[in-house]
Amino acid sequence: MNRYHRQILLPQIGEKGQRALAASRVLLIGVGALGTVIADQLVRAGVGFLRIIDRDLVELTNLQRQMLFDESDAKQNLPKAIAAANRLRAVNSEVKLDPIIADVDAGNFEDFIEKSDLILDGTDNVATRYLINDVSVKHKIPWIYGAAVATEGRVMTILPGKTPCLRCVFPDAPSPGELPTCDTAGVLGSVSSVVASIQSVEAIKVLSGNAQAISQEMRVLDLWTNRLRAVSLDDARRTDCPCCGKHQYEFLKSNHTSITSLCGRDAIQIRGGRGRLDLDQLQQQLQKSGELTRTPYFLRIRLSDPKDVELTVFPDARTIVKGTTDAGRARAIFSRFIGD
Ligand SMILES: [Zn+2]
Repeated sequence: MNRYHRQILLPQIGEKGQRALAASRVLLIGVGALGTVIADQLVRAGVGFLRIIDRDLVELTNLQRQMLFDESDAKQNLPKAIAAANRLRAVNSEVKLDPIIADVDAGNFEDFIEKSDLILDGTDNVATRYLINDVSVKHKIPWIYGAAVATEGRVMTILPGKTPCLRCVFPDAPSPGELPTCDTAGVLGSVSSVVASIQSVEAIKVLSGNAQAISQEMRVLDLWTNRLRAVSLDDARRTDCPCCGKHQYEFLKSNHTSITSLCGRDAIQIRGGRGRLDLDQLQQQLQKSGELTRTPYFLRIRLSDPKDVELTVFPDARTIVKGTTDAGRARAIFSRFIGD
């Protein structure tokens, strides 16, 4: 029996919808709490191609809600994109997977979108969502916004040219630190799973030729107080929207800041230029500077001096400086050991 039998039984999907799903190409940005559930559901549903982009490594604190990972992934400190693809391949070998370890930004985003039918938001930060919105509207690729913090969640589906975009509804990105995040406010795993499930159903509608069935409202839910609200988007589309009205893609044009504070993690991420790093060469250079760990995906060094700092260097020229929240100090240590 066909593995998609139960899904094909649905009159809304049928064999035609299933064939459309199998021919679809999906881009997932971020494979954390939302992204793992989305990826799991879409791979089981039988999308044709799934590109997964994530910059992080699996940690023990992820396991409470990031459904594709287990203790051995955390112990090995595997990149999330790789650990997710390993698991997904065992779930459905018919789906073509393309895991990429990278930090999506204004400079590289458009390199990743080729032939995507849909972009899914599995990110944990607001800046990347505004970037997804710009890319979506500019290239006319639908995207599905999802967010989960504490016991609350939100979902909205954006079809460029047809529905309001994110900036029609929230014109300006909040400044860093203005909104609570999972790192500061926590999150219930069940809440992110519900949000991701709603995103996945919206995705299946768009990809199976049922875009007319998408939600015309923004869904807002609080699973603790049992409140489910639908915010009407009827009058939300604005002709003066900087993105979908005026086509000024401000987030896509903005220079990527090379220093990012990794909220709640006592770490700073520094990106040094656009090129790639030769980790073998760097390993030679750093041999006497501390305790080295090398995996196929990164080079890590616990420095002998200063003793409280650990550097994790990725081939895409990113370094995570762990042990400080002071951007200046992180920058100085980076220059000293990795160079500019
Ligand atoms: Zn707009």
